[in-house]
Amino acid sequence: MTEGNSTAAEQVALDVSGVDELIDRFAALSETHGAEGVTRLGYTPLEREAHQVFATFMSHLGLSVHSDAAGNTIAELPGDGRPDGIGTGSHLDSVPHGGRFDGIVGVVAAMLCAQTLAADDYHPRHPLRFVAFANEEGARFGQACNGSRLAAGTTDAEALGELRDRDGISVLEAMRSVGLDPDRLDEARWRREDWDSFIEMHIEQGSVLADGADDIGLVDTISGSTRLRLTVHGVASHSGGTPMLARHDALVSASAIVLAANDLALDAEHFGTRITIGRIIASPNSMTTIPGEVTLDVDIRDVDTDRQRQTALTLIARAKETAALHDTSLDAHLIADTAPTLLSRRIIELASRETDRLGMVHRVLASGASHDTQQISRVCETGMLFVPSLHHGVSHSPDEFSRAEDIARGVQALTGLLTALDMADEQPAS
Ligand SMILES: [Zn+2]
Repeated sequence: MTEGNSTAAEQVALDVSGVDELIDRFAALSETHGAEGVTRLGYTPLEREAHQVFATFMSHLGLSVHSDAAGNTIAELPGDGRPDGIGTGSHLDSVPHGGRFDGIVGVVAAMLCAQTLAADDYHPRHPLRFVAFANEEGARFGQACNGSRLAAGTTDAEALGELRDRDGISVLEAMRSVGLDPDRLDEARWRREDWDSFIEMHIEQGSVLADGADDIGLVDTISGSTRLRLTVHGVASHSGGTPMLARHDALVSASAIVLAANDLALDAEHFGTRITIGRIIASPNSMTTIPGEVTLDVDIRDVDTDRQRQTALTLIARAKETAALHDTSLDAHLIADTAPTLLSRRIIELASRETDRLGMVHRVLASGASHDTQQISRVCETGMLFVPSLHHGVSHSPDEFSRAEDIARGVQALTGLLTALDMADEQPAS
């Protein structure tokens, strides 16, 4: 096993055992365990328990901790009177049967960073805020980054009332069921004047860093995503009695649409576009009935806003043509749309100076996945640090893996970056 490219310049011992202990502690808060992976969905009692672990740890360090109406938990180390805080953190929820690292690594990094600064008796100029966001994964309700959207003001109670999970429970109902008060969501909104900058550390969820033997990634762009629900309408009928040529089979039509979507993403004009149809509901889902209706949930990602939105329109047009060719019809409904985000050049420069000073090899790269930072970039300057993902970058799977030493290196870089931002003279955002 290689140790990355770090050199003797790494003066401070890496806190590998602290990383392991906290990762294990959060992984234990799961509906599923071991080979089944971690299941801790947004706005469930298990997610709330994870937020409580974070809150208790931070209170023990002497930080003031509060939980807002969106379910985000924020711990603060006070500054010298300046109002504009420097924040770091990530999310504590998972997808069903997910890994132990997605989101958790950024929260664990915030915890260990706070621990280091408290142990050093560091007195910041700006307030330093350590954040665990609620309900980041889109897995339950279709729209990602719920807690950070509420903080950034990019969604509200009315919009959330319409998003439902597969059991028909709306986001607002789920929030109430775990003791949150959606009537006070306005209070969860972050004000621009209260924030200087925000940094999120996360696992890469790709293999660029591991393949390049880089220690750490500095993110310059986060892909956007457009999510669609396509419903194919056919006619449900007896599988034995209905001749092949008299059918309006919604699943045959939907299958052709899945292939058409794949072809669209693979054509030369869409290099870098990713289209995924990861959820299909066929109804009545019975072996002896021709499927009468099929729902396809489509996720389109791109680093180019115009191309992302144009791809969604092209896909809807092609899906309608394909549906008609198979004697079915199609409705398209927009579930969510987030533009790609450019992160701060100033923060990338500060981070590259810090990682050089620590003897780490860094690489500037784009994020294919969406993150809370995308929402927070509406409030203040933002940056992201990626730690390498092993196992070919697999994520949202029990096989997701990042090494404790890589995470500990990330914590060092994050701590250095936060203090550098705290010391930096006021400069205009780039
Ligand atoms: Zn994540």
